Amino acid sequence: DVRLYSVSPPSAAARSAARLSVSGERPQQPAEWTPSSWQSKPIKHDVKYSDYKQVEKSLRKLEWLPPLVTPAEISKLRKKLHDVALGKAFLLQGGDCAELFDYCNASVIENKLKVLLQMSLVLTWGSRTPIVRVARMAGQFAKPRSSPMEVINGKEVASFKGDIVNDFDPEHREPDPDRLVQAYFHSAGTLNYVRALLSSGFADLHNPMSWSLTHVRDEHIRQDFQKMVDRLRDSLEFLHTVGAAESSNLNTVDLFMSHEALLLEYEQSMTRKLVGPDGKEGWWDTSAHMVWIGDRTRAIDGAHVEFFRGLENPIGIKVGPSMKNEELVRLLNVVNPNKEPGKVTLIARYGYDKIEGLLPGHIKAVRESGHRPVWSCDPCHGNTVTTSSGVKTRKVSSIVREIALSFKIHKSLGSTLNGIHLELTGDAVTECLGGGMEMTDEDLGTNYATYCDPRLNYEQSLDVAYLLARYMRG
Ligand code: PEP
Ligand code: MN
Repeated sequence: DVRLYSVSPPSAAARSAARLSVSGERPQQPAEWTPSSWQSKPIKHDVKYSDYKQVEKSLRKLEWLPPLVTPAEISKLRKKLHDVALGKAFLLQGGDCAELFDYCNASVIENKLKVLLQMSLVLTWGSRTPIVRVARMAGQFAKPRSSPMEVINGKEVASFKGDIVNDFDPEHREPDPDRLVQAYFHSAGTLNYVRALLSSGFADLHNPMSWSLTHVRDEHIRQDFQKMVDRLRDSLEFLHTVGAAESSNLNTVDLFMSHEALLLEYEQSMTRKLVGPDGKEGWWDTSAHMVWIGDRTRAIDGAHVEFFRGLENPIGIKVGPSMKNEELVRLLNVVNPNKEPGKVTLIARYGYDKIEGLLPGHIKAVRESGHRPVWSCDPCHGNTVTTSSGVKTRKVSSIVREIALSFKIHKSLGSTLNGIHLELTGDAVTECLGGGMEMTDEDLGTNYATYCDPRLNYEQSLDVAYLLARYMRG
């Protein structure tokens, strides 16, 4: 029976019992994993609903709805990430911090696709390897928050936890179970349009999209970028001339979807027992091709790690400054006991000022353990700062610095940086400082549109790709 599990959320009593193990010892890893075994584990960033009957109704509906992605697609990404882990390809993962239901819109989707495709082209040229593209999109709706409450206009209200949970409108912050189902349909709408665009030639390199560099103020940098674009165009033209482009699938691309699997009730309902392309049965989280565990929910004995360890999907783990070397190895052993290369992507996010003190220890410990993860660098989350006027922002220079340090550290230890993870948008927002357009503190007010963390805008995202490509080319 493929639907033999119950999705009933655990009672508050069961959850606190799990938190306070009776013997006072660490709870044992249960021998058997089920899609609901996470429910007996302590959980962080849990959502408390006032009406669990409505939650049940939503979860039953989700269980009934078809998968958003298939085991064949998920396996394809898993194989590609295997190559990435072995240094044969490079991972580009990016998108919004918090995706809104409203981003399920033609131009928002087109712009994000465009920036990701352009970045990946620049990076292909830079890394001389294929780029595996994974969007933070079509499901990035649940957010962990540093505080459960926030003050808006002098009034204390529950924090916005993402569109899958509550409304950004401070008057409607009560978790709404119907949003679980709405999340599915918004994911489906986004995914459908992405699939439609890609199969309609949106990625066609015969029609290169605009490669304007007029935003880059510094003459020197602009010329440098222009040289790269010219060489990239030359290479593409050459491929077309010799007919290689037509035969090498350059006009179609793969784009995989990912999100932080924070809301385990939702993820459980989307997790199905299905036969994979190898003919074996397994449990597939069909809400996305790849899902990751956030830095705040990666406790080894916690609910999220328990849920993730049973999935066939390739998974990510955010690795922040508090991660201990041996803790990282234990975590890898739990979620990837067979030590399959690339099954796990370690998304390191320390901050440019901390990476040198932390990454070397993590690299050495992981290497000694025999694990071969994808090493990705998230240069965004460790570099968030607040301006004197209280606006959350990031400097493009700090972002670039953390990536450059990550490359350097890996290289010096005989390891390889295999990918980057960025918070970005294809739209003309003003949320991060600097970049070719030299965005200043005063500019931030022009179009500060994020509902969570500050994102690189279209130009800044390409700036990062150019700088990275130049770095990779040496
Ligand atoms: C995020 O990716 O938006 C996020 C919350 O990151 P982290 O888990 O690394 O803090
Ligand atoms: Mn974020």
